[in-house]
Formats: sequence, C-alpha cells, structure tokens
Amino acid sequence: YSSTELTQAYLQRINMLDSQYNSFITVTEEQALAQAKAADEARAAGNSGALCGLPIAHKDLFCTQGVRTSSASKMLDNFISPYDATIVSRLKNAGTVTLGKLNMDEFAMGSSNESSFYGPARNPWNTDCVPGGSSGGSAAAVAARLTPAATGSDTGGSIRQPAALCGITGLKPTYGRVSRYGMIAFASSLDQAGPMAQTAEDCGMILNAMAGFDPMDSTSAERDMEDYTAELNKPLAGLKIGLPKEYFSAALDAGVAEQVRNAVAEFEKLGATVKEVSLPNTELSIPAYYIIAPAEASSNLSRFDGVRYGYRCDNPVDLEDLYKRSRGEGFGTEVKRRIMVGAYALSAGYYDAYYNKAQQIRRMIQQDFVAVLNDVDVIMGPTTPHPAFKLGEKSSDPVSMYMEDIFTLSLNLAGLPGISVPCGQTNGLPVGLQIIGSYFAESKLLNIAHQFQ
Ligand code: GLN
Repeated sequence: YSSTELTQAYLQRINMLDSQYNSFITVTEEQALAQAKAADEARAAGNSGALCGLPIAHKDLFCTQGVRTSSASKMLDNFISPYDATIVSRLKNAGTVTLGKLNMDEFAMGSSNESSFYGPARNPWNTDCVPGGSSGGSAAAVAARLTPAATGSDTGGSIRQPAALCGITGLKPTYGRVSRYGMIAFASSLDQAGPMAQTAEDCGMILNAMAGFDPMDSTSAERDMEDYTAELNKPLAGLKIGLPKEYFSAALDAGVAEQVRNAVAEFEKLGATVKEVSLPNTELSIPAYYIIAPAEASSNLSRFDGVRYGYRCDNPVDLEDLYKRSRGEGFGTEVKRRIMVGAYALSAGYYDAYYNKAQQIRRMIQQDFVAVLNDVDVIMGPTTPHPAFKLGEKSSDPVSMYMEDIFTLSLNLAGLPGISVPCGQTNGLPVGLQIIGSYFAESKLLNIAHQFQ
C-alpha cells in the first residue's frame, strides 16, 4: 500500500468510528494527506527509513506546529503551537504521517481520561468502561485500530496503565532517554514520553525515532544511539525474573493475578527462572508521588496566568482579577486539586513535613529497586490492580482513583523503564503484564515482551 492509501484508510476509520471512542481531540486530515504524499514521493525516490509513510497520532500535550495543542484543558483550547516538540519533529523527520492529536486527562492528571475538557475517551473493549489514563485517547485509538501507533507520556503510569486496560503495548523509557522539550510539563522530574502500539516490535521501531540526546532538555541523557529492535529475538534462557511479593497481595483482582501468573509460567517455559523478591516500600509510593507530582505541577502550571497565552477571562477589572478568574475558569477540578495540594506541600512550615519527607521516601523506593535489580534481570507483575473500571465509578473518589497507580508510579519515582504487555483477559477485559528493568534496559524489556507476543 502507498502511504496515501493507508492514511486515507485510517482517516476513514476515525471518521466512521471515533464518535464511539472520543479518542481524538483534533484530526489533521489535510496535513496528514500532504505528509503521506511527501512520504510516497520519498519512497519512490528510494530515500526512506523504516517509518516512512507510517500514520501515527500524538497525545495532545506534545506541541505540534500550527496545530492546536490543548493538553485537554480549557486553558489551552485556543492554543496553536508555534513549534514542534522534539519527539514530534523527530518522528516527522523519520517520515511519519500525523493523523491528529489524542484525548487525555487534563494536563495528564488522572487514571481514567475522565478529567478531559473534551469529555472522556472510552475503552474499545467495552465503551461503558474507561480506557485508563492519562494517555487514554492514545490507548483507545491504537486498540480500535484508528492509528497503528501513538505517542504517550508517563508521569506515574499514564502510558502503561491505559495500555494495560486497552490490551496494547506501551513503554515508559528510562527518565532522560526521550526528550521532554515541547511536552507540556506536569511533573518535570517524573515525566517521560514513550511509544504505544500493538506490539513490542512496533514500540521498538518508534522508540528508535523518538529517543536520543537533546540539548533542549537539560535532563536528557547523553548516550549513544541504540537500535531497539536489534535484540528482539535474543533467547531468554537463564533470564532471572523477580516477582515482588507486595504486588500479589489480597488487594489484587483474582482474574488479573491469574493471567499474570500464567504469563510468568510461559517465561519459565522459555528458560527463565523465577524467584520471589521484596519491594518493601511499595505502599509508600502513592503518598510520596501524590506530594511530589502535585508540588511540581503547582510550579509548572503557574505559567498559565491568562496573560501570555491560553484562556483569558472576559472583562478583568485589574491584574489580580485577571489571574484569578482566568485560572479559576480555565482549569478543571482535578487540576485545581493538584495545584492546591502542591502549593500547600511546598509552603513554609509544611515543606519539611511533606515535600522533604516525600523526597526521602522516593530515595528509599529507588534503593529498593536497585537492590532487587542487582539480584534479578527484570521484575514482573501486574500493571494495574484491576481491569478497566466503569466510567464514573471512581471519579468522585480521588483516593480510590490514585490507588490504581500502585504498581506503576514507583518506577517514575525511581526513574526506571517499564513496559506493559497484554497477557490475556478477565471477564472480557484485557490484562497487562508489567516488566520492569534496570536503567536504560529498554532493549531487554522489548526483547522479553516480543518473545511473549
Ligand atoms: N494517574 C497518575 C496521576 O494522575 C499518573 C498520571 C500520569 O502518568 N500522567 O498523576
């Protein structure tokens, strides 16, 4: 197929089906067809790479030049980005065709896609259920075959959790592996962009284009380029897998536990050995994350002041009124909750009790992982404690929503890479297996995931 035919086919599916899933915020049909034509010409001229002509869609917090980049917030509903995020320009340079921008939780805050200003995205497996979040639109669009691949971002699980809930593959790289330049910031010490697609092989090909040092991101890791597809078929004999006992507690859904244990047994058949390990501070990761992430968010979101860009209230009487009403009207409930929690935790008198304490816990969590990963090659467990839940089920109870992140957000606190791979179903809904590796072990994670698929 030509890229033009492929692009037309996906655009047609989006037009026909996305009213059911609400996975796109913006469809960039005209640009997509122009990019597809250019890709076809490049291919005809013989100068094309592996991704040339491949349709893709971006989570709506990656700046895309000339296109609305909303972060699913009323605050940025009118924001047309003047530049491309590094990952967007890298993928464009690799010849990909951008179908559009994907739904998400507002400013990536959430686990269900219900905090989007544009309404929730829905899970293609059961549209009464959430697709997960915050990259819910990315996961739903890939699962519904509205795009072959998508980008996502992961601050506490936002690539892996929706990938698990929608039955696709999603990789959160090591912190620093992929540039954050042009990605609208949520919590800068935790945010990381990554690929979401049907398979680990596809994720590896997309990561090849996304990853690499970027002088525009001060936390970007200066490392040699790697081919993330080179080791996909390396035999797994002798692989040492650790199963953290804390991940298989009574709180874990029985159907999820069964599928994950079956998956681990498959790896044993491929020659891996399995042992129980312990990550004793797992429970503390939720309170630590929900101090650190809001603290950083309260600072990052101070730039939305109604002056420079984004939403501005009508008829402000003075500057104070302009700030207050622009922010009061422009941000949704969950975002306001995070700003208030974060500003409180950082304020004089509370800083030591909350923020400093959370940073100490963060270090302990990281040390737990490093110790275990000195002993085993990878850690495996469920990506989420439950399969997809119903829309509205947790939206009035933020703490129960936050609990869904128990297995994912500790990796962000430690900066480690993790992949979620589909591993069966329970009650007709997909289950995700999470594989966690040492720093910069993306190739290994993709290799292990690939042999299971
Ligand atoms: N669910 C988590 C939160 O709401 C993680 C979100 C994310 O990774 N962006 O903060």
